[in-house]
Amino acid sequence: MKVTEHIAKANGKTLFSFEIIPPKKGHNIQQLYDNIDPLMEFKPPFIDVTTSREEYIYIERNGLLDRKVTRMRPGTVGICASLRYKYNVDTIPHILCGGFSKEETEYVLVDCQYLGIDNLMALRGDAMKHQRFFEPTKGGHEYAVDLVKQIGDLNKGIYLHDLMETPTKADFCIGVAGYPEKHMESPSLPSDLKRLKEKVDAGANYVVTQMFFDNQKYFKFVKAAREMGITVPIIPGIKPLAVSKHLQILPHVFSLDIPQELIDSVSHCKDDKAVRALGIEWAIHQTKELLKAKVPVIHYYSMGKSDNIKSIAKQFF
Ligand code: FAD
Repeated sequence: MKVTEHIAKANGKTLFSFEIIPPKKGHNIQQLYDNIDPLMEFKPPFIDVTTSREEYIYIERNGLLDRKVTRMRPGTVGICASLRYKYNVDTIPHILCGGFSKEETEYVLVDCQYLGIDNLMALRGDAMKHQRFFEPTKGGHEYAVDLVKQIGDLNKGIYLHDLMETPTKADFCIGVAGYPEKHMESPSLPSDLKRLKEKVDAGANYVVTQMFFDNQKYFKFVKAAREMGITVPIIPGIKPLAVSKHLQILPHVFSLDIPQELIDSVSHCKDDKAVRALGIEWAIHQTKELLKAKVPVIHYYSMGKSDNIKSIAKQFF
C-alpha cells in the first residue's frame, strides 16, 4: 500500500515509522531482525531501508595498494523483500542517483515492481567519501528531481529506449527529502524550498525531512512549503541523540543546529549512557509536540540500534 494511502486510512491518527541501514557486507541479516523485532509491536505501516554510496577500498597485494570500488552495505532491495514477507509490512527502498546509471536504475525499479514494492524514496545521495562535492555517475542523474522524473515516466509506462508497444505502467508512490534547516549545498532556505517544489511538481507524493532537534524549525519549514504551494504530506524525521560526540558529528554531517538547551544538558551528563537517556527524553518531548500538531507520521532514524526508539515509541504508539 502507498504511504499516501496509509496516511489517508489513518484518518488523522499519527503513524509510527522508522528507517534502517543494511548490515555491513558479510554480516548476518539476523542482527537486523533483532533490531526490528522490538519495534514491530508499534505497528509501523512502512519501514525505510537506506542505500549507501559505493566507496573506494585499498587492498594490499605484493606490497602495492590496489584500489577497488565496493558497496559496503549492499542488499537494500533484497532486505525490503525479506522484511515485507517476514513482517507483512510495506518497505521503502531508498533509490539513489549517485553510483547508478539510468539503465541500472531502471533495472532496480523493475525489480521493485516485480516484488510488489509500492513506494520508493528518490534521493540524489551524498558525495563519495573522497569527494568534496557530489559528482554524477556517468549516464546517471545529477539531481533527485531527474530521478523522480524517471520513476514518474515508468508510472506512465515510459521506459528507457522506448522499445515496447504496450509497456506495463508502474504505480510507485514517490518520497523525496526535505531540509528544515536547508540542504548543506543550498545557498538559502527559500532556494532549497524552490528545489523541493520542483521535485513535487515532477511527481513526488510526499516528503520526509532531515532530522532536526528544534520542532520550531520543522513547523516554520512546513508553513513556508505550504505558502509556496507544496501540498503533499511532510513527514518529520527524528533522531534521538545517543552519544556526546553527536554534538560535533551531526551538525558537521547534516548541516543542522543543536539547541543550546540540549548542548548544556549534554555537558552535565557524566557518560554516554546518560547522554543516551537524555537523547530519549529530548525525542519524547519532540514527539509529544509533533503529535499535538497532528503530523501524519513520525519517522525515526534508528541508525542500526532500536532500544532508544522503543523507549520513545512505547509512550505514544
Ligand atoms: P537534491 O534534491 O537533488 O538536492 C541536492 C542539492 O542540490 C540541494 O542543495 C538542492 O537545493 C540543489 N538542487 C536541486 N536541484 C537543483 C538544480 N536543478 N540545480 C541546482 N541545484 C539544485 N543518502 C544516501 O546516500 N542514502 C540514503 O539512503 C539516504 N536517505 C536519506 C533519507 C532522508 C529522509 C534524507 C533527508 C536524506 C537521505 N540521504 C541519503 C541524504 C541525501 O542523499 C543527501 O542529503 C544528498 O546530499 C541530497 O539528496 P537530495 O535527494 O535531497 O538531493
